[in-house]
Order: sequence, then structure tokens, then C-alpha cells
Amino acid sequence: MTASVSVVVPVFNERENLPELLRRTLAAGRALGRPWELLLVDDGSRDGSSDMLTEYANANPGEVKALLLYRNAGQHNAILCGFAHAQGDILVTLDADLQNPPEEIGRLVAKIEEGFDVVGSVRQDRQDAAFRKIFSGMVNLMVRRSTGVILHDYGCMLRAYRRKVVEAMLTCRERSTFIPVLANLFARRVTEIPVGHAERAAGTSKYSFLKLINLQFDLLTSMTSGPLRLLSWVGLGISAASVLFGALLLVLRFAYGAEWAGQGVFTLFAVLFFFVGAQFVALGLMGEYVGRIHGDVRERPRYLLDRVVGDTLGERAAHATTRTTA
Ligand code: UDP
Ligand code: MG
Repeated sequence: MTASVSVVVPVFNERENLPELLRRTLAAGRALGRPWELLLVDDGSRDGSSDMLTEYANANPGEVKALLLYRNAGQHNAILCGFAHAQGDILVTLDADLQNPPEEIGRLVAKIEEGFDVVGSVRQDRQDAAFRKIFSGMVNLMVRRSTGVILHDYGCMLRAYRRKVVEAMLTCRERSTFIPVLANLFARRVTEIPVGHAERAAGTSKYSFLKLINLQFDLLTSMTSGPLRLLSWVGLGISAASVLFGALLLVLRFAYGAEWAGQGVFTLFAVLFFFVGAQFVALGLMGEYVGRIHGDVRERPRYLLDRVVGDTLGERAAHATTRTTA
């Protein structure tokens, strides 16, 4: 049986882009030659986008569904809402501003069918402001280092996921989330393909500078509590250095006399640094607790069970009795 496809698009004040988005995505979806659906999630738009989405859903029964959020929940939460209502075996996400060509959907789906759980995409010749490209480069490098998953473009939301991975993501209860990082947690095989990238068709980016910073913190904290641990290491470093500094002062004091040591002022510094370092260690220790609390309140499932082979104990006895009575 051919796998069905759900395309999920978050929409936030994208009125001017919607007609073109619908036209191109419908064409791409129909070209897949298999059951598919388009889920348009309105993320609390105030420009009439939601009415347009409703109209599209009514005009394309069986193909287009509109999900309207009551207020702005953020791009990633809007996508999760789409995931929760999607019925396809393969789920594809796409931006509404036509920066990602919908025509690439077919290639993403084909990659999943090769056996990958997650297919990312790398924007070739990315058409965004220079500061965003440099910033992204740094963030991507950091994510690669700390997750060990070699993907090059976490910001690109033209992606495909196997249903199993999406279902696991949906069980995560955390409020701030970054979908591509979350997906890596559950996927066994991840790959990426190069895709084209266009300038935003109309309107301006829905991410203000502050919202962008906030998104980066979502990415960082959904991935690691490393920054908290860093505090302890910095503290240990400062304390250790101050002990060495103290020892050096002691030696120099005997070599050059009390006059040289500024009547003990330097020694005070050594003592001060020791305590400054100790404070960082204490903060870092607190961070370890905060990090764990953060982990617990997220209530992420600890594992994703693939299948069960063989039965044991009670089950076996039950089978045995049914077999003998049969
Ligand atoms: N978006 C959303 N909610 C938000 C911000 C953005 O649903 O709070 C959608 C937006 O409509 C678009 C996608 O997320 O479909 C990516 O946003 P945008 O193109 O503004 O981001 P950029 O390309 O500048 O990173
Ligand atoms: Mg965009």
C-alpha cells in the first residue's frame, strides 16, 4: 500500500502569500499520485488569513483542512497542532511565505521511503539577511557539536518525518520546543537533501529580533543543559587559578619580602578569587538541579518502543492453556 502524505503549513499573517501557496502546494500534492492532505494551521493571524484558510478548506473537501488557533502560539507549536490532526504516514512541513518551494515535497517523500525517519533540507543559496545567515551558521555548528547529528540547516523547516517519530514528538509535554531537534531524539536514520530557497514572496519576516533570540534559546534548552554545567566548570577554573596565584604570592613574598607583596593586598585578591570561583561552583550546582527539574517538567517519554518479539512467563502460560483447550 502506498504511504499517504500530510503537508503541514503554519500561517501567521500571510494574506498576500496564501493564493500562490495554495496553488503551488495543491499542484505538488496532486503530483504525488497518492492519498494526501494539506493542513493549514492559522497561528492567530489578524490580517484575515484565517478566513482565507476556511474558504480554501471548504473549496477543496477531502484535500485541504484548516486548523485555526485562537491566538499566536509560535511557529513550532502551530506545526505540532497540525501534526496532531494529520493522518498521513509521512508528514511534511513547509513555510507559508514560499521561501521553500512546495515542488520539493516529492523528493522529501521519496527519501523517507528509502528508509529514513527524518529528512531535513539544506537551503542552497539562502535568500535571507546576512546577519541571519551568519547567526544560523554559528547555531548550526553548536547543535552539531552537542547532538552529534550531522545536519547543516536546522532553521530550514522544509522537512519530512515518518509518522512514528511525529507521534513520539506529540507525547512531549514541553512548552518551548524546537521541532528539528526534538525529532533527532527519536529518529534512527536522519538525512538531508539540498533544496532551493527563494526570497519571501510578500510581507516581512514574522520573527522580530527578540522573537528570534527567544527561538534560539528554545533550540538550546531543548537540546542540552550544558550552559548550566558550564557555570561549575568556570567556577572550578577560577578557584583553582586562585590557589595557584596564592602559592605564587607566597613564594614571591619570601623571595622579595613583605614590601613587594603590597602589605598583603595581593593575597587578599587571591582569597577573593577563591570565593568568587566557589560562588560559581555553587551556582552551577544549583543549575544541575534546575536542569533536572526542567527535564522532569517536560515529561518527555524516555524511549520509543519499536516492536516486541517473543513472549514470556504469564503470556506463555496463557498461550499454552489456549492451545491445549483448542
Ligand atoms: N509563523 C507562525 N507563527 C509565528 C511566526 C511565524 O506560524 O509566530 C510562520 C510563518 O507564517 C511562516 C513560517 O512560520 O509560514 C516561517 O516564518 P517566517 O518566514 O516569518 O520566518 P523566517 O523565514 O524569517 O525565518
Ligand atoms: Mg520565511
